Amino acid sequence: METLSGVAATQELVGQWRRGGLSVGLVPTMGYLHQGHVSLIEAARAENDKVVVSIFVNPTQFGPNEDLEAYPRDKERDLKICEREGVALVFAPTVEEMYIQGAATKVGVTGLSEVLCGRFRPIHFNGVCLVCSKLFNITKPNKAYFGLKDAQQFFILERLVKDLNFDLELVSCPIVREPDGLALSSRNAYLSPDQRKAATVLSRALKAAKNECEKGQRDGQALTKLIAEMVGAEPLARLEYAEVVSTENLSQVTTITSSVLVAAALWLGKTRLIDNFIFSPPVS
Ligand code: AMP
Repeated sequence: METLSGVAATQELVGQWRRGGLSVGLVPTMGYLHQGHVSLIEAARAENDKVVVSIFVNPTQFGPNEDLEAYPRDKERDLKICEREGVALVFAPTVEEMYIQGAATKVGVTGLSEVLCGRFRPIHFNGVCLVCSKLFNITKPNKAYFGLKDAQQFFILERLVKDLNFDLELVSCPIVREPDGLALSSRNAYLSPDQRKAATVLSRALKAAKNECEKGQRDGQALTKLIAEMVGAEPLARLEYAEVVSTENLSQVTTITSSVLVAAALWLGKTRLIDNFIFSPPVS
């Protein structure tokens, strides 16, 4: 396994692979790898000759009062996991390498970035779009793998890839969960034992909403009310939002007639967690 921090060296190596006819799968991460990341690496391994994992805690996607400094990091452990999973190259740049002096270019997807999490994290998705555009240009992947844990991110990146003609395919992978339902996240490491117990309310509330959908509930407001009530019953949790939106354009849905994303975010102390599910009503 190669580990590189330089942009030019990375472009050179993946350029050689691509010219030699090898396919490249990219898995962008912020490190502190867990089984969710590993599932993306496995998917990439199954479909590509070479897998590149990027590890970069991207400052441009954190707001001024967010957890950039506190974000958990363990590069040595991450490298061991990548090695074990058969990754060909880890690209782990410094902030200075990624954002050269004088950098002035912005990338963003309007509309989709302003709803759901974007309402509460106004610069977040522009930072994601910028760093992913750069990672696509640096690692030249045939395919790039993202988790549906961050479903809004995936929809935004699909738009970005179309709009800017990036010559690659995006692949979405299912959410990996703890046995009690909590979606894996590097941020789960922040939770105290009590908060960790309380955190299951998010997946439980979404599961209850999903069950209602499967039983025929089509009223978006009834679903968000159910989620709000369940989260409201957990004293340690504070709901940030629960919404039912169209997977087409992330606009709010009052009556479900086609595929929807049901997404929610909550706070446990200073830790913000997100989760979601996608529901497509059966065609009758
Ligand atoms: P992060 O390191 O949190 O920025 O995540 C890197 C990638 O892993 C993103 O595409 C995430 O959506 C994905 N990911 C994070 N957690 C999970 C999970 N529990 N299941 C599936 N994918 C995940």
